[in-house]
Amino acid sequence: MKIGFIGLGNMGSPMVRNLIKAGHQLTVFDIVESSVKQIVEKFPANAVAAASPKDIACANLDLIITMLPASSHVRSVYEGPNGIFAHCSPNTALIDSSTIDPQTARDLATIAIHQHIVMLDAPVSGGTGGAEAATLTFMVGGAEEYFLRFRDILSLMGKNIVYCGGSGNGQVAKVVNNMLLGISMIGTAEAMSLGVTLGMDPKVLAGIINTSSGRCWSSEIYNPFPGVLENVPSSRGYTGGFGTDLMLKDLGLAAEAAKLAKQPVPLGSLAQQIYQTFSLQGKGQLDFSAIIQLFQKQ
Ligand code: NAD
Repeated sequence: MKIGFIGLGNMGSPMVRNLIKAGHQLTVFDIVESSVKQIVEKFPANAVAAASPKDIACANLDLIITMLPASSHVRSVYEGPNGIFAHCSPNTALIDSSTIDPQTARDLATIAIHQHIVMLDAPVSGGTGGAEAATLTFMVGGAEEYFLRFRDILSLMGKNIVYCGGSGNGQVAKVVNNMLLGISMIGTAEAMSLGVTLGMDPKVLAGIINTSSGRCWSSEIYNPFPGVLENVPSSRGYTGGFGTDLMLKDLGLAAEAAKLAKQPVPLGSLAQQIYQTFSLQGKGQLDFSAIIQLFQKQ
């Protein structure tokens, strides 16, 4: 397939490499020229550079994938005068894998329908490690027949490709899951800190929780207390992993979606305030499990 890819950051670059490894022909664009250069120089036979989203839209490709930071970037790449919609033909399908608010995803899907263009929202979980190893989970929203058409392509970058329903539902699944993760991490951090302060050994305490009713992903797979698990951010100074500011972004998306739906999310909102406080202390780049530091003597 001839595939266009816009957004060659921490996630986009390894995703592009996996598509190239599978033999596809890539046309790539990023506003950071060095990111484009890196791909094109490494794969001269399989990747060419584009100068703008317009360039990619005009190239008569089979598919364009976007992997951009947030809704505003996605809107400018799709809706701007030099953007995809102004220049794309119905022969080219579109997949946005950025994490954005569900309403923006639905607005873009509506424009695509009016232009007879196939479009899916397909945000991912699994982090940069998953992008490198092609083990991402894709949560896909849009018409099921389009999902079935592009499932094999997504499988080159991910392990679980899940159909979530109509347009925007991929984003709904993503933000709701991350809201729950943000909340459960704070709960785990609070409980671990209290137990240790009251005299428990952290490993023994984690073992009890993980065989009892308090067990969750945050306690079992990603425990925030240093030294409980090997190979998790809490045991390497909260480096790597999923940054606090990225968690904050996803909690903001959940809050925005909840407001539009007039749906109360009291714990999601509180979690957002707690991570915001932590970020304000200059900790936004640390993995989100570092939130435990709020409950510990420094
Ligand atoms: P990133 O900031 O590393 O990469 C984004 C890229 O988009 C950058 O290279 C940037 O230069 C480029 N860009 C910005 N505006 C552009 C424009 N107008 N035109 C072309 N390129 C533009 O971000 P990332 O970590 O790769 O994340 C991408 C998306 O995936 C985000 O929505 C993020 O929330 C989501 N996500 C990230 C992770 C993770 O662990 N990093 C995990 C799951 C989902």
